[in-house]
Amino acid sequence: MAFDIEMIEKVYATMAARVDKARALVGRPLTLSEKILYSHLWEGTPSQSFTRGKDYVDFAPDRVACQDATAQMALLQFMHAGKSKVAVPTTVHCDHLIQAKVGAKTDLQVANTQSKEVFDFLSSVSNKYGIGFWKPGSGIIHQIVLENYAFPGGMMIGTDSHTVNAGGLGMLAIGVGGADAVDVMSGMSWELKFPKLIGVKLTGKLSGWTAPKDVILKVADILTVKGGTGAIVEYFGEGAESMSCTGKGTICNMGAEIGATTSTFGYDDSMRRYLAATGRQAVVNAADKVASYLTADAEVYANPEKYFDQLIEINLSELEPHINGPFTPDRGTPVSQMKAEAAANGWPIKVEWGLIGSCTNSSYEDMSRAASIVEQAVAHGITPKAEFGINPGSEQIRYTIERDGIIATFEKLGTKVFTNACGPCIGQWDREGADKQEKNTIVHSFNRNFSKRADGNPNTHAFVTSPEMVAAIAISGRLDFNPITDSLINDKGEEVKLVAPTGDELPKRGFDVEDAGFQAPAADGSSVQVAVSETSDRLQLLAPFEAWDGKNVTGAKLLIKAYGKCTTDHISMAGPWLRFRGHLDNISNNMLIGAENAFNGKVNSVKNQITGEYAEVPVVQRAYKAAGVPSIVVGDHNYGEGSSREHAAMEPRFLGVKAVLVKSFARIHETNLKKQGMLALTFANEADYDKIQEDDTINFLDLTEFAPGKPLTLEFVHADGSKDVILANHTYNEGQIGWFVAGSALNLIAAGKA
Ligand code: SF4
Repeated sequence: MAFDIEMIEKVYATMAARVDKARALVGRPLTLSEKILYSHLWEGTPSQSFTRGKDYVDFAPDRVACQDATAQMALLQFMHAGKSKVAVPTTVHCDHLIQAKVGAKTDLQVANTQSKEVFDFLSSVSNKYGIGFWKPGSGIIHQIVLENYAFPGGMMIGTDSHTVNAGGLGMLAIGVGGADAVDVMSGMSWELKFPKLIGVKLTGKLSGWTAPKDVILKVADILTVKGGTGAIVEYFGEGAESMSCTGKGTICNMGAEIGATTSTFGYDDSMRRYLAATGRQAVVNAADKVASYLTADAEVYANPEKYFDQLIEINLSELEPHINGPFTPDRGTPVSQMKAEAAANGWPIKVEWGLIGSCTNSSYEDMSRAASIVEQAVAHGITPKAEFGINPGSEQIRYTIERDGIIATFEKLGTKVFTNACGPCIGQWDREGADKQEKNTIVHSFNRNFSKRADGNPNTHAFVTSPEMVAAIAISGRLDFNPITDSLINDKGEEVKLVAPTGDELPKRGFDVEDAGFQAPAADGSSVQVAVSETSDRLQLLAPFEAWDGKNVTGAKLLIKAYGKCTTDHISMAGPWLRFRGHLDNISNNMLIGAENAFNGKVNSVKNQITGEYAEVPVVQRAYKAAGVPSIVVGDHNYGEGSSREHAAMEPRFLGVKAVLVKSFARIHETNLKKQGMLALTFANEADYDKIQEDDTINFLDLTEFAPGKPLTLEFVHADGSKDVILANHTYNEGQIGWFVAGSALNLIAAGKA
């Protein structure tokens, strides 16, 4: 569980020199985000300045964190890197695979049985390679990272989009795909386009019913789900300093909902208090020595409009509690306007469930403030109209709030306490009656509220708000209840009013826990056996992809010409397929099943050129593979957009597709294809897309001369014998061509050549 004070001190030891050099190179004062970026360059001390939103830069993150669903493929790949130990401190967290149904104890037992082989694998592979393992029930990845590992001025990556939560402790923490995590765990650099910067100046002070959650609900309303794309959001101002560290975590957490690369806050007293309360006074002592480097230069916050690409100002004293939704987290409604909005849109007013917790809002402060509302309901003799559920963020939180009577308070209203895990936040909620798909409303303190996200019911209208508002709304049972102005009727028929919530930022008696659920890795893991059953349908050890044979690819068949949008979800669908994330062969049965065939307008229906019959894409590709016939995929614009899911690149590679030729790529997917030893190519002339015919056979004419900056020539032989020769561009550099030649980037790492 150790928080690596030596690593942190090492980061701080070089920070001043690197930031000072960067300031000189850039020629102006620096934001906090820039200080962290420039002090984590792979090259060490900066030798040049970078252009925001343009330059791709190699970084050296300090830590890696993985959750159980994404860690499976990441660690299966890491096993091929030929390393005895991870290169940077890494942790694995079992939180996504635990379903919420009956309550913590039973649900955890069920998960430990159902996903035993996955947990055993993650435990053993962590033990072997020096990775800290957090067992099922220990808590949610981001809460545990904040409680144990995050530190001001640090940089980390994690295989989960809400890794950004650690910005609450002044980090730059960024969600990535498994392939990026494998690189960093293997001792390689990590590439990121130097982000743009959005400044959010917080003036005033939160009070009454308004909570940190309302800041990000308001920001999401302003910026929308795409407004933060490619940018770091940096919060500052007196309002930021007056807020708790965990409140800052909530705000950064939901930065993922506006598409931001990450969000962060400058080092301040709230962070000192939180670090000290979570047993990390040593980090405070170290951070205090470089405190001026852990926030922006004073001039930046004095004249922010000069230093940020975009600036937003929010006065916390005027901010109203917000309720965002349904179906999208950027649809913000101030509580005072909910009556009108709900009526105008026909949203179900009756609230069925109130859910508090998740990685977004399960701090001590959150729980104690929500409990203060529940206490009032009990004191006033109000029977809550909706059901309540909580999923604590960590065992440390759960143990402490149980000790302090907060859980007992919730239980007075019949609250179900689910496992310290994601549960309803990720659709792992076996909600009674959800299969009837009735239109209904729930409110929760989570971050995402897309259709079906919580309970699988597309007609569940999920609204996101603060924990204290969840409590008030669930007690009232009405979506349009405004606790600031409205009264409730108690069980005796009397009119009563709830007063604003109160709570403790940190537990007065300190945090406590009996068994946090941490497993330290073996000091020497060389004799540890990694547990993977050969008969498992969920886990499969990977075999290295074959190296290139040095010849032109010839006689390749067109597998599919995908038309229109083809995201990573179209290429490797999620939903029920999540179960097979650790089994490449099984999950490959979802390859491209969501893509539209340009020739028949159908999804998952392509012509098998060997038989002439139409079948599902994976079936046809497996037939080509069995016959030893190579194939290529053709696609449209922005192919592979959406996520960094490496399965979308691994599956075609595994099934024998040689190249993906498109009008344009989403960059992360393009890189992922390269890493897996695939040819990722773009039409030199986009109009050539129209020349591709359904029965085409493809020959590469000059792959043997594959070189940086030199287009490749492909011959498309049509069914009538006619031919089109087209040029395909690529963005491979020498190193990446090395990945192709070796069969994958991992093969090269394993050979000690990367
Ligand atoms: Fe993701 Fe929800 Fe789990 Fe947080 S609690 S890590 S948002 S699934």
